[in-house]
Amino acid sequence: MRVLAFLDGTLADPDAAHIRVDDLGLLRGDGVFETILVADKNPRELRPHLDRLARSAAMLELPAPDLEGFERAARKVIDSWIGGRELALKLVYTRGIDGDPAGVPTAFAMGLEIDEKVQRARTEGVAAVLLERGFGPDVAERAPWLLLGAKTVSYAVNMAALREAGRRGAQDVIFTAADGSVLEGPTSTVVVAKGRTLYTPPSTIGILPGTTQYALFRGAEKAGWTIKVEPIPAAELTTADAVILASSVRLVTRVHTLDGVALPDSAALHRELVAAYESEY
Ligand code: PLP
Repeated sequence: MRVLAFLDGTLADPDAAHIRVDDLGLLRGDGVFETILVADKNPRELRPHLDRLARSAAMLELPAPDLEGFERAARKVIDSWIGGRELALKLVYTRGIDGDPAGVPTAFAMGLEIDEKVQRARTEGVAAVLLERGFGPDVAERAPWLLLGAKTVSYAVNMAALREAGRRGAQDVIFTAADGSVLEGPTSTVVVAKGRTLYTPPSTIGILPGTTQYALFRGAEKAGWTIKVEPIPAAELTTADAVILASSVRLVTRVHTLDGVALPDSAALHRELVAAYESEY
């Protein structure tokens, strides 16, 4: 099942064509998006997602998105959903039609079913591989045109990395910077547990600030964990008590195997972190 809504709150047929072939989101990947988990009609971290959409749009110098309109469209999708208790809600915002003098962006919200693989990853965890992204942790600030840390619709590289993981017998990826530090997954934030401390790399190194990681840290702090935002050398992943990939739809997923080597069993720790995250909802 799928539900499509536009920013004026009208529903549209998700099986019909609505986007023109000269839309710059399609032609150049020139646009931004968000994916939000809706559970029992509750869109998790809606405000942080809307704020990040606006931040990504600003990085691309798109017109400021109509966040009220996006919220209206999101509510329409959620209210119209008659599928399971969870859905993935996508908000999409592109530069619109090539050469349009009015420069009207394309904007919509869409509700989608959640793949079965997601449920499996949540409960069983994933095998991941380290893949280099080829730039240093200082490039994001020096070269803002690279749009590092913007959630653009140009995810071809991220999807290619996941296919590479598949070729290596894994389901996910942890990107590393040129200095060997941890960046992020193609669709997730990396969180590491050591003792009673949770670590995640700072978004200033050119990664997306994760809404799920933020919610996890909020919940974990209340449960007595210390939280630290600092660079993580990739070499430390193998000795961590738990390596977690946090993302809106898969939530708190543990990495059980890295580059073909089994990591220390983090199943109990994972359950504890899931509980800390879920306590926020
Ligand atoms: N990093 C990247 C590149 C992502 O695409 C995502 C989500 O899709 C994340 C991190 C995690 O962000 P969030 O927890 O807000 O979904």
